[in-house]
Amino acid sequence: MEYINQMTLIFESHSINEGFARSAVAGFCVQLNPTLDEITDIKTAVSEAVTNCVVHAYPKKRGEITVWVGLIDREIHIRISDKGVGIDDIEKAREPFYTTKPSEERAGMGFTVMESFMDELNLSKNGDRGLVVEMKKKLACKRAVKVGGGNVRL
Ligand code: ATP
Ligand code: MG
Repeated sequence: MEYINQMTLIFESHSINEGFARSAVAGFCVQLNPTLDEITDIKTAVSEAVTNCVVHAYPKKRGEITVWVGLIDREIHIRISDKGVGIDDIEKAREPFYTTKPSEERAGMGFTVMESFMDELNLSKNGDRGLVVEMKKKLACKRAVKVGGGNVRL
């Protein structure tokens, strides 16, 4: 696939980095001139995926989280991967309200949120350790760049 621009972030699984990843991805995507709603959807999905890495992938000691973003004309591809504990039954984990941490007041809605805010969600094993979350978002239409308004500024 021919991407017009790509970037990769690698950071440790501290919960503070969830906000960093969300803002960094949003900042990168702004060059495609998305709507505010589209940016909000992407930020929400990235938050959920990175939070999952922090909370579930590395429950005991910190590990590495990799966020890759690729841009095609009006499409944003995002891949968030960890080398943590992984998921045995991926289909089950995707179900709404499924959580392995009910005691921590988790709703089990992270993957459901990612699925509804993005156009595609694909989960796979990261080799023999960890998880790869791939998401795609198609931007609605080409928006003219207007001076003095209409564009997303972060
Ligand atoms: P919520 O996101 O609503 O706070 P949750 O994180 O439990 O709750 P999901 O995000 O839908 O819900 O994830 C469902 C389950 O999948 C988790 O409870 C966890 O068992 C597993 N899971 C999700 N992401 C990972 C990951 N990166 N590594 C290992 N397990 C994961
Ligand atoms: Mg979650």
